[in-house]
Amino acid sequence: MPKRHFASDNYSGVCPEAWAAMAEANTDHVPAYGNDTWTSQAADLIRGVFETPCEVFFVFNGTAANSLSLSHCTQSYHSVLCHDVAHIEKDECGAPEFFSNGSKVLLLPGEHGRLTPDGVEEAVLRRSDVHYPKPRVVSVTQATEVGTLYTPAELRAIGAMAKKHQLRFHMDGARFANAVAALGVAPREITWQAGVDVLCFGGTKNGTAVGDAVVFFNRDLAREFEYRCKQGGQLCSKMRYLSAPWVGMLKNDVWLRHANHANAMGRLMFDLVAAIPGVRILFPNQVNSVFVDLPKPTIQALWSRGWMFYNFIGEGGCRLMCSWDTTEDDVRTFAKDLAELMPVPN
Ligand SMILES: *Cc1c(COP(=O)(O)O)cnc(C)c1O
Repeated sequence: MPKRHFASDNYSGVCPEAWAAMAEANTDHVPAYGNDTWTSQAADLIRGVFETPCEVFFVFNGTAANSLSLSHCTQSYHSVLCHDVAHIEKDECGAPEFFSNGSKVLLLPGEHGRLTPDGVEEAVLRRSDVHYPKPRVVSVTQATEVGTLYTPAELRAIGAMAKKHQLRFHMDGARFANAVAALGVAPREITWQAGVDVLCFGGTKNGTAVGDAVVFFNRDLAREFEYRCKQGGQLCSKMRYLSAPWVGMLKNDVWLRHANHANAMGRLMFDLVAAIPGVRILFPNQVNSVFVDLPKPTIQALWSRGWMFYNFIGEGGCRLMCSWDTTEDDVRTFAKDLAELMPVPN
């Protein structure tokens, strides 16, 4: 049976660097609720990554990071604009609406999981009466739910449109590390320099056990966010166990090394499966995932051999997701099985 799978990067375990930092933090008594040196060090390292004095909060997961940060941007009569396949709408069980007391999430189309500035403007200008939930936030996912990327220029254009219409700019960065690694840019170029107000910076999929960071570049917006975290059940009392792994990840660019590796495995998977007759590729490969359309019997046969992968993400199709610990051998073994299990062309 395979030891590693392609279902999600959160099927992976904890990377050695995050684990070691956790172990190191597991000594003596330290102040609770984030008043410890691990947490201040992790926040400082994040400020170093972004080269700006941002406000940083650690919460348990991405859904909490997204819903609490979005709710901090809105009144209940506002709306949040995002892509049709956005995690905040499709995969968070209504948490953004729940935590914002009813702000509506409005879906916009766009090729390959990406919003366009024109699409955003159309949604804003569509209506201006009190019967329509007033757009207040535009949310993008970087890297997107379908494994594509916004370029810095595309983000700047959306940021400019957000500014023009007084929208807050939110980024779901569950795979932000993969995006930075793939684009080879300074993190600032795809965040605050493009107008992003708040980033949900994911750690879990890149090798930590638990704990994502909410990073406010717009520091006014961060005001009283600690109360929202506490009320939302997201203030970890033993905070060092969320923050210490970030220290392990951010020192020596470990986070980028792991993301680069996952991306390289995604590229290898893409090259191998794209060469198999009958496999239809659904999206360009830009980070650590490959989306393919496979015949139903082939999917069943792969599952029977023990391979785990999802076939309901994004716009359907099978998602093959690589992670920080995927090996080249894992990818080659999977691709070989897939080639064997495809129907013989007639
Ligand atoms: C995984 C993921 C999240 C966070 O999910 P949690 O399970 O709540 O940690 C958020 N956005 C995207 C795009 C994701 O893939």
